[in-house]
Amino acid sequence: MEPMPEYVIPAPAVPCLPIRGSDARFPVHRIYCVGRNYAAHAIEMGHDPDRELPFFFLKNPDNLVLDNGDFPYPPKTGNVHHEVELVAAIGRGGSEIGVDAALDHIWGYAVGLDMTRRDLQAEMKNAGRPWEIGKAFEHSAPMSAVAPAAEIGHPAEGRVELRVNGEIRQEGDLNQLIWKVPEIVAYLSGLFELRPGDLIMTGTPAGVGPVVRGDLVECSVAGVGALATRIV
Ligand code: MN
Repeated sequence: MEPMPEYVIPAPAVPCLPIRGSDARFPVHRIYCVGRNYAAHAIEMGHDPDRELPFFFLKNPDNLVLDNGDFPYPPKTGNVHHEVELVAAIGRGGSEIGVDAALDHIWGYAVGLDMTRRDLQAEMKNAGRPWEIGKAFEHSAPMSAVAPAAEIGHPAEGRVELRVNGEIRQEGDLNQLIWKVPEIVAYLSGLFELRPGDLIMTGTPAGVGPVVRGDLVECSVAGVGALATRIV
């Protein structure tokens, strides 16, 4: 066995998610996100809902907020939006995975929030620049515990819902995904080598909108789980 290296600075911790019904953890490698994957959301953002190829951006694994923790309102923005999403957790990696084999690579599912500095994202879109400052900032990925696929199966339908202070803001159903989870895994694995621990945020239904300090955001995906965060 290799001796442990002596690090010159403290080594970062491995980000991980809790697992529903277990004390074990799911270690996180990367966080991939799919853009515009519900037709109604594509339309509300001013895009054509036709089935263009999926596109991806990333968040940082240490952007996760666990255990229904608070979401600190981020700096340099006046327009932070909520986006509730089904998250697929990859348990077995691979490249060029076929659609028919894709579900075998998924260990479980979670509910996630793709918190977005919409004003900064819009500036970057207009300038043709990358989206990181709009999407991959600190605390930008509140997430629930992972529900094992061995227990819940692979949900292809189920209500997706988000409430702010008890009022419904986002509603949809997994059966409205433009690109289905097996198709996302197959396509993404042609672009990147998927690794155990990768998370894929699969896109948000219509109804995205701003939050302000003090808001309570509660969201759920039927059959998968629920998540809440307070904007502070
Ligand atoms: Mn999103």
